[in-house]
Amino acid sequence: MLSKVVKVPDHVRELMEKQGYKLIMNHSAIKPCHWFRKALLEGRLCYKNKFYGIPTWRCLQMTPTASFCNLQCLYCWRLNVSDVPPNFRWKEVPDDSSVWDDPEEIAEESINVHRMMVQGYKGVKVFKKEWVYEAEKPKHAAISLTGEPTLYPMIGGLVEAYSKRGMTTFIVTNGTLPERLENIEREPTQLYITVPAPNRKLYMEITRSLWSDAWERLNITLSLLQSFSSPTVMRIPLIRGFNMDDKTIEEFSELVRKYQPTYVEPKAYMWVGYSRRRLSRENMPSHDEVRRFSEILVNLSGYKILDEAPESRIVLLSRLDKPIRFQYS
Ligand code: SF4
Repeated sequence: MLSKVVKVPDHVRELMEKQGYKLIMNHSAIKPCHWFRKALLEGRLCYKNKFYGIPTWRCLQMTPTASFCNLQCLYCWRLNVSDVPPNFRWKEVPDDSSVWDDPEEIAEESINVHRMMVQGYKGVKVFKKEWVYEAEKPKHAAISLTGEPTLYPMIGGLVEAYSKRGMTTFIVTNGTLPERLENIEREPTQLYITVPAPNRKLYMEITRSLWSDAWERLNITLSLLQSFSSPTVMRIPLIRGFNMDDKTIEEFSELVRKYQPTYVEPKAYMWVGYSRRRLSRENMPSHDEVRRFSEILVNLSGYKILDEAPESRIVLLSRLDKPIRFQYS
């Protein structure tokens, strides 16, 4: 059987380029997040800087799986196959025999393209000139942009490739491929697992998973958290009307107590991108609602509130007294 090269389909590539993504080789992409721009132009920094010390202006946001995922989350900003008519659909989960780009080349090329993008800031009024020169040499890779990064079989090699270049890495995964995380050759600096629901029924409703055993797979991943030496985060995307009532918070607290992630980050769903076709503006909770959810979760789980960022509608919980901050030279 002939192996097939994994590739973002042309019509999706065209759409993504219009939305500001820069496609890297066959299936990866970068796109600076809006905080990167705010940092360079206004000196305002993101919550990852506030919580963990990530230098916002030196962050490279990327994905090795630009249009591939095994879930179809209602709250996802990306275009997924459920959004398009049947003749425009593509195979979101490549076959096991598929051929993927080399992690070293993806890392190198993503940094080159990021560097070219930074050149555009040299001719405009910026907050601090030194930050533009520093931005050319990114220090952090946020492997999270869009798609499910652990579908990329060489995810550990990708972490290694960025680490070799002196960068920290955060992976944000939906946690449905425990086999990839269990055997990862190189741990990311911090590992995020997104948990949008605390029970199977609600999980399948929100994620509309293409895999019938996604919930069970997620639970296996959660059971691996204690084996990681890097800090772990349970990210809870909050959607008003779906996963914020008191009974659901109680169920979330059971998961937190059982799996003991280093941090829990309840964060508001944002009504952006293609999620606007599936949810309404009313599904977006305010920061006060995120705070209320967090306070109840704290009472039930024994975690503490360490920090919050109202502009991103996010609260940081942990058993630690303060978050681990990463150091950059
Ligand atoms: S897992 Fe992530 S990329 Fe996949 S559909 Fe859900 S939010 Fe989108």
